[in-house]
Amino acid sequence: MSSALVHNLIRPELLALHAYHVQDSGGLIKLDAMENPYHLPQFLKDEIAALASISEINRYPDPDPYELKEKIRRIEAVPEGCDVLLGNGSDELIQLVALALNKPGAALLSVEPSFAMYRMIATFVGMRYVGVPLCDDFSLDMDAMLDAIRRERPALIFLAYPNNPTGNLFSAEDVENIILASTGLVVIDEAYCAFARDSFMKHLKEHPNLLLMRTYSKLGMAGLRLGFLAGSTAWLDELEKLRLPYNVGVLPQRVAGLLLEHHGILLQQAEQIKKDRTVLCDQLKTLAEVYPSEANFLLFRMENALKVFNGLKARGMLIKNLDGAHPLLKDCLRVTVGTPLECQKFIEALQECVA
Ligand code: PMP
Repeated sequence: MSSALVHNLIRPELLALHAYHVQDSGGLIKLDAMENPYHLPQFLKDEIAALASISEINRYPDPDPYELKEKIRRIEAVPEGCDVLLGNGSDELIQLVALALNKPGAALLSVEPSFAMYRMIATFVGMRYVGVPLCDDFSLDMDAMLDAIRRERPALIFLAYPNNPTGNLFSAEDVENIILASTGLVVIDEAYCAFARDSFMKHLKEHPNLLLMRTYSKLGMAGLRLGFLAGSTAWLDELEKLRLPYNVGVLPQRVAGLLLEHHGILLQQAEQIKKDRTVLCDQLKTLAEVYPSEANFLLFRMENALKVFNGLKARGMLIKNLDGAHPLLKDCLRVTVGTPLECQKFIEALQECVA
């Protein structure tokens, strides 16, 4: 009875949707979600504990934490004259932008395969979704992109730079041509910028239809849920109206504020991850076809990927199976770069699976 009621009332496109699946990782070495595997030094853990103990969690957080935003602007080299808008993770910001631009008939365009939430959020907000396939080597198919932009006139384009789950950085020239060709807003999602050679931050002021999004999730703060959008105040002042009050809690504000004062430690960890990525990539190449990565994960292809994925799980390793997610990802798996010990265990387990 209640199920019939639910089915009657919920929007059909939501009924048809599967919830974003987070794999159960209990007891497994977790190399599935692009987290930073390193812990904080003890002195910082102590400072976090002290901060937590004096935080007034009976009060609402600062609705617009000016100091934290200033710190972010400085550390991330947000161009003068641009502002930042904070989100409860960058997922929340994708949704916020989609909500803002979702006029009747408006389309959200992205490439495929890319971050699954672009399509999912388009569905959440009832926005038309256009997915343009990448080329076989995961580069942008510029003819198809420019065609789709001309045909669909998307109000919103999301491009992950570097892309997830493929790990590559698109050609900056291609991205720029997409920004120039688009009559809508283009959001460059730089979730993995700490591990990449390039960023669009320096170009932010060159294009009136460009916003840049980053997250602290991959840099060691996934548990805090903090991301930001950077761009002109003309955009951010409007988007700000959609931000739910108090979307970033007291503890995330305070702890992120503290950790950003020690940003160098996190960047050092990112440097270590980049070195470990090279080592892991070389080892993985002896067993699979590995794609070049500018992120903290590697995409690789090998026969019987699903069997390998299950074999790894049976050996205590959780990675991401992408076989079946998109035709271009046939037999593909994605592994996050863990600590050297985790990577070594992963390679050993993979060798066993193959043998
Ligand atoms: N963008 C991309 C490209 C991602 O891969 C992810 C997380 N996997 C996110 C955004 C969301 O990150 P968060 O919500 O943790 O900030």
